[in-house]
Amino acid sequence: MRMTVAEGARRRILIVGGGTAGWLTAAYLAKTLGTGLSGGTDITLIESTDIGIIGVGEGTFPTIRSTLAAIGIDEARFLRESSATFKQGVHFVDWAEAPAPDAAPTQALGAVPGHSHYFHPFNFPHQVKGPELLPYWLLGAAGDLPFAEAVTLQKAVADACRGPKRAIDPPYHAPLNYAYHFDANRLAVLLRTVAVELGVHHLVGTVDGVVLDGSGAVARLDTREHGGLTADLYIDCTGFRAQIIGQALKVPFKPWGDVLFNDRAVALQVPYDRPDAPIPSYTVATAHEAGWTWDIGLNDRRGTGYVYSSRHTDDARAEEVLRRYIGPMAAGRDVRLLKFESGCRNRHWVGNCVAVGLSGGFFEPLESTGIMLIEVAAHMIAQFFPWGPSGLDSAQTAAAMAATARTYNALMGARYDRIVDFLKLHYCLTRRTDSAYWRDNADPATVPDSLRDRLALWAHRPPGRFDFVADHETFLPASYQYVLYGMGFKTDLEPARALYRRMEEARHEFQGLRTVTPQALSSLPSHRDLVEEVYRNG
Ligand code: FAD
Repeated sequence: MRMTVAEGARRRILIVGGGTAGWLTAAYLAKTLGTGLSGGTDITLIESTDIGIIGVGEGTFPTIRSTLAAIGIDEARFLRESSATFKQGVHFVDWAEAPAPDAAPTQALGAVPGHSHYFHPFNFPHQVKGPELLPYWLLGAAGDLPFAEAVTLQKAVADACRGPKRAIDPPYHAPLNYAYHFDANRLAVLLRTVAVELGVHHLVGTVDGVVLDGSGAVARLDTREHGGLTADLYIDCTGFRAQIIGQALKVPFKPWGDVLFNDRAVALQVPYDRPDAPIPSYTVATAHEAGWTWDIGLNDRRGTGYVYSSRHTDDARAEEVLRRYIGPMAAGRDVRLLKFESGCRNRHWVGNCVAVGLSGGFFEPLESTGIMLIEVAAHMIAQFFPWGPSGLDSAQTAAAMAATARTYNALMGARYDRIVDFLKLHYCLTRRTDSAYWRDNADPATVPDSLRDRLALWAHRPPGRFDFVADHETFLPASYQYVLYGMGFKTDLEPARALYRRMEEARHEFQGLRTVTPQALSSLPSHRDLVEEVYRNG
């Protein structure tokens, strides 16, 4: 039987896939474009229970707060129903230097002898009335303090396992910038509930055929359970299967594996060693011989995994590295192996289909770009949604859709390229030479020209806003600065010292931050207490 998803003049959107990409996009579009009689769209999401979702992706970026707020999800409900905790940044261990030969593996927070470390906080460098602090830090005004510790108190707060705010209210606001860690499976259930409440039709079924029209656009999706489904816009959220964008439309995949080597992960969820254990409010990313481990604290368990390059190690050795990192809590638990190819489609929007989530591309979990790219896609689709004036004939509709696609692809393509540079920055500045993986990562031949050019410029001046085109960037100058100087990159400002005449003011600012840190620490609750507030009051 052939049926339409919904009849009438409203635009029909059909989303295939019920992972984070599908449900987040569905909920966001339903809220912003409206559904049903009072809204402008009919949105249907079909997901296959035979295939399931990837179920990893537990770290996010601060943009998630405004996305959840825009959808209308209460922060306390989100925290409670997704087992979520607060994330104030990423703590990197052993990336700049190899651990000392006699150093034991570490899971401890903060500084540990024998291990190099740095912090990428979500807070921007402090600047209220005084000068921008970075040049003065480069000229020595903060003494030996590492950059992130000199320009924000967020590292001290996170090292002490404090939350970023005093209480859950006011929702989504805090003195310190933050994102979340959460359980991906539980988040998908919450987003589904909210999307359905917002009017999204939910179908369970498997798309097993994609019928194209003479122009190469999608004419219909065939399903066993619901017959043929049609829509004005098809959103492919089918994960790595890329059922529409890849298998049917055959949009080429642009591999980035020569730059970003990681293509596999082994993952393991482990309990805390005691129920009231402190919960870190940052992701701990520890470098190893052929990749890095993530360690994420939820309220009731830890999510861990080792992301690695199959060209530099094998699966058995990767599992051994992960188990060694976790220690006794790993015993008797099975790891899960995940394979992926680093890269993205060379076009994300083709005809009347747009790919969102893993079907569009994925690099690796470092810096949590996966879900953030889903948010960006949902925001852009909502804004670009090709309504057109009523009465457009199909040629005009196709032309409007093609213009939308070109704009979307230009912006999304640039954004993916910029993310490659930022991720590679974490690797190429390493001074590790203890394995082929790190030597290859530092090989200039594996560094994109765009990043090499910037590094050459930043040897003589720090990154500034004109190095970045805001709508192409996910990571702003502050993020680059934290990683660059955390990794020990040298910017020689001495020849320009005369330009920086506010040294005393800068010293005063650095000192002021150090002075207020103990007060900030004592005014913030422990991270576990803050998280558990939602269970006490829920
Ligand atoms: P999936 O979760 O795979 O969902 C695909 C959906 O499509 C499923 O519902 C399936 O049933 C459906 N489907 C497939 N084919 C069909 C069909 N023919 N018919 C009907 N339905 C179909 N991102 C982050 O932001 N932070 C992280 O920390 C992070 N860590 C990661 C770690 C690893 C190891 C990996 C691999 C990824 C990580 N990601 C992370 C990425 C993140 O997991 C994904 O971006 C996110 O989960 C979205 O996945 P998805 O919805 O695109 O795909």
